[in-house]
Formats: sequence, C-alpha cells, structure tokens
Amino acid sequence: MARHSAGAEIERLIQLVARVPGLGPRSARRAVLQLVKKKDTLLGPLAAAAQDVFDKVRICPQCGNVDTQTPCLICTDPRREEAALIVVEDVADLWALERAGAAHMRYHVLGGRLSPLEGVGPDELNIKTLVSRVARGTVEEVILAVNATVDGQTTAHYISSVLADFPVRVTRLAHGVPVGGELDYLDEGTLSLALQSRS
Ligand SMILES: [Zn+2]
Repeated sequence: MARHSAGAEIERLIQLVARVPGLGPRSARRAVLQLVKKKDTLLGPLAAAAQDVFDKVRICPQCGNVDTQTPCLICTDPRREEAALIVVEDVADLWALERAGAAHMRYHVLGGRLSPLEGVGPDELNIKTLVSRVARGTVEEVILAVNATVDGQTTAHYISSVLADFPVRVTRLAHGVPVGGELDYLDEGTLSLALQSRS
C-alpha cells in the first residue's frame, strides 16, 4: 500500500482530482494542497459550484451539447443563424469553435466518430437526431467540422450519404485542419480560417 501523508478524505480528493484529464498525481496533490489552504476562498466555492453543475447539467436533446439549461443556450440563442448547422464530434470541438468566435451558427454534436475497429456504428452516434433536424427544412447547409483522422473522414462520408436525399449543401472544413489533428488543439485564427474556407 502507498504511504499516505494526509487523512483519508484529503487522499480521496487527491485521487479524484488526479483523474481529471491533463492532471496527474503530482499536480493533483499540489492543487488539493492549495484548495485545502484556501478553504474559505477556493475550496468552499469550488465545492458549491461543482454541486450546482452536478445538479443542473444535462445533455441538450436537440444538439447533444452539455449545458445547465435545456434546450442549451446555443440552441435557444435567437441571434444565431438557423440556415447553417456545424456538425462536430465532441463538445470540446464546439467549445473550440465558440472560443474562436468563428461562427454564429448552431451545432450538432455527434458524440464521437464512426469507428468499425472500435465497434462504433451509426446508432452509437447522434446521427438520427441530425437527420430529423435537417428534415424539418430550415437547414440549408450542414458544415462537417469533424477531425481530419481516418475515422473522422469515414464519419463525414457517411453523413454526406445519409443527407444526400435532402435539399441541403454539405460542406467541410477542408483547409487548415491538419491530418490527424484534433479541432480542440487548433489555435483560434486557424479555426476561423478553416471555417471560412470550407468547401
Ligand atoms: Zn442545444
């Protein structure tokens, strides 16, 4: 058994924080120490905020985004174009595009990408909801902002074929997205350029 230098509650918090992507055991230990030291100004508000998000977070039934309101803030924003829909694999991609301020459009989050090797088929992704959104007739363009990986491109081909029967233009973020590159890691300028130069 590992030697512990703090009580079980603190060790448990460290173990949980260490599971957050981007953090490891060492940075988790450092973060928790700061939280404990700043009990009133940081740990308390953080615990309350986490509880609040836990109570309220939902997946948007319309677009697949995560938010504390349903439908999500983006789906209910009247200033966004309804004619264009950006299809992304993950909420992280949606956040990346939003951070870039590149689009005033609505999104559709697939929740992954088709991967025959990993057993991810069309039914595992939010493709049926995408088709029914398109079938309503207000969408004129579907912009596929899927990653430039093999699976991402397979996903793009599949969605294009599924939407072929509808009077929508299906475009892609062709330029600026490096092969194998994940959308979330692109800088904001590259992202908005990629969105402008869709084909
Ligand atoms: Zn939504």
